[in-house]
Amino acid sequence: MDCLFCKIATKQIPSQKVYEDKDVYAFKDIHPVAPVHIIVIPKIHIESINDITERNSKEVQRIFELIPKIAKIAMVDRKGYRVITNIGEDGGQTIKHLHFHIIGGKKLGDKLI
Ligand code: 5GP
Ligand code: ZN
Repeated sequence: MDCLFCKIATKQIPSQKVYEDKDVYAFKDIHPVAPVHIIVIPKIHIESINDITERNSKEVQRIFELIPKIAKIAMVDRKGYRVITNIGEDGGQTIKHLHFHIIGGKKLGDKLI
């Protein structure tokens, strides 16, 4: 499958690793919107939240267990941060592999849209 984030997870494309285990990979966003901007992905290909099922939800659970740990590694856990996942065209999803943005390191804006 021709998926950029699958290639990043398997190291066919280089990235700046923040965290990795057998199920999850976290790396720095190439175009950070804040001092801390990390992308967290499951290593298995899931297109978006729309494709979470009983068969793959364990990987998603794992990501949510790890987000506070990754936030701690990035030293944004105490002051706070934002977790965003975009879904589909209107949601602004450009890479069709489920991912969660961890954004922080500064006081973020108060706009949701
Ligand atoms: P989306 O808009 O799909 O929610 O987010 C995709 C994110 O992936 C964007 O923030 C974009 O900067 C990031 N991105 C796109 N291509 C690459 C890449 O090759 N390497 C890394 N590290 N990030 C990427
Ligand atoms: Zn993929």
